[in-house]
Amino acid sequence: LKYDVVVIGGVAAGTSAAATIKRIKSDMSVCIFQKEPYISYGGCGLPYSVSGEVKSPESVIGFTPEIFKEKKGADVFINHEVYKVNFDNKKVYVKNENDEFEVEYKNLVISTGASPIMPKFTYTGNGVFKLRNPTDARTMLDFINENNPKKGIVIGGGYIGIESAEALKKHGIDVTVIEGTDKLLRGMEDELLNAFKDMTTKSLKVEFNTMVEDITFDNGIKVITKNKNYDADIVVVAIGVRPNTGFLKGTDLEMLKNGAIVVNEKSQTNIKDVYSAGDCASVKNYITKKDVYIPLGTTANKQGRVAGKNICDVKESFEGVVGSLITKYEDVEFAKTGFSLSEALESGFDAIKVYVKSGSKAHYYSGSKKIHMTMTVEKSTGRILGAQYVGGEVFARLNAITPLLYKNGTVDDLRNMDLAYAPPFSPVWDINLVAANLAK
Ligand code: FAD
Repeated sequence: LKYDVVVIGGVAAGTSAAATIKRIKSDMSVCIFQKEPYISYGGCGLPYSVSGEVKSPESVIGFTPEIFKEKKGADVFINHEVYKVNFDNKKVYVKNENDEFEVEYKNLVISTGASPIMPKFTYTGNGVFKLRNPTDARTMLDFINENNPKKGIVIGGGYIGIESAEALKKHGIDVTVIEGTDKLLRGMEDELLNAFKDMTTKSLKVEFNTMVEDITFDNGIKVITKNKNYDADIVVVAIGVRPNTGFLKGTDLEMLKNGAIVVNEKSQTNIKDVYSAGDCASVKNYITKKDVYIPLGTTANKQGRVAGKNICDVKESFEGVVGSLITKYEDVEFAKTGFSLSEALESGFDAIKVYVKSGSKAHYYSGSKKIHMTMTVEKSTGRILGAQYVGGEVFARLNAITPLLYKNGTVDDLRNMDLAYAPPFSPVWDINLVAANLAK
């Protein structure tokens, strides 16, 4: 078997690359090998498929393999795993349940994503879940519907942990999040953490500074920590992900310490004709220009598309990320872009932070939500280095700051920008402007 382009992994990055190539050069032969039974799904929607806001775990799937082939033109092999690559003779080695074979490529896209880290707990059977793909979400949802669990433990206070906690809560489960550090969500400032705790205190229980040592089963699931054991009917493990690049160990492919494949702005690796994109790859931090690991769906799509374009000789670059993130627990949103103060200091900036509170609408307009915000600013220049929000209606506010980070924008730039205003949407001095005034 021989293809112009072989794509390994067919979710966000892989399907973006394949679809882009076929759109630009329909005569190129492209195939996707995908270990799982599904391709092209929105992992980001899975927590909401457990909570019920999304109709079912299966509804996050964009294309079946057949429709993808019909509409986009690439061959798709599901339940096929690439277990080895030889970069010298340009071959991938593939296996499925019954068969093993090799395929020659001219260009290779490695888009194998990442998998949740699952420590070697004593018990990982029924009732202990990870959440990564539609099968995980389906298994979790069926378990909840069949067993009606009352007590839930979520291990890890990152965004997947928080979104999983909300999903369990929607089923009436009494949830505790166990978090190893004194923080929630990546890089959240202390002022905002306190606000987040206040706003969610009635609904979300978090045990901070608590490391889970084991999960056992003795007349029920037990989550073991140093000081206390927790009984649980359901456990979700959400302590981070690891790139799926184990099968490439021992090759000359350059990787970060955690196994993420290092790519440049064109999604090229250090090996000729080999591209990588998505959760198995690094990405540039736009501000520091360092190769970092920030695995997100939006980046996977962009890197996949750029890989596809460059394979077709359309020169296009994805210049990097600034660490934008948004999530929510019930109606309390958290959003972040750029650096927190400590991240800015660690990156060598002489920075300060301002902290402001405001409403999301004019004070006389009904339904205004509280917002807490911090802004990180370079002291000498007023350059904006980051912003964070906790509260309601923060999405558009965050996305007004992010473009400034890409243009070295300052608080003066922000103060003088013609941002839209009307009472149902913001106070006349919106929180972004208040922060800019304060940081001046
Ligand atoms: P993956 O989605 O991991 O897909 C890679 C595929 O490759 C997998 O199906 C895997 O089985 C397959 N594969 C692996 N090894 C092989 C092999 N050797 N051979 C063949 N196939 C292989 N991102 C956001 O931006 N916003 C969000 O709100 C958000 N929410 C999320 C919520 C949850 C619960 C989860 C799990 C993720 C969320 N993400 C979010 C992250 C986003 O889903 C991922 O960044 C995105 O799925 C990455 O896509 P990918 O194609 O790089 O990798």
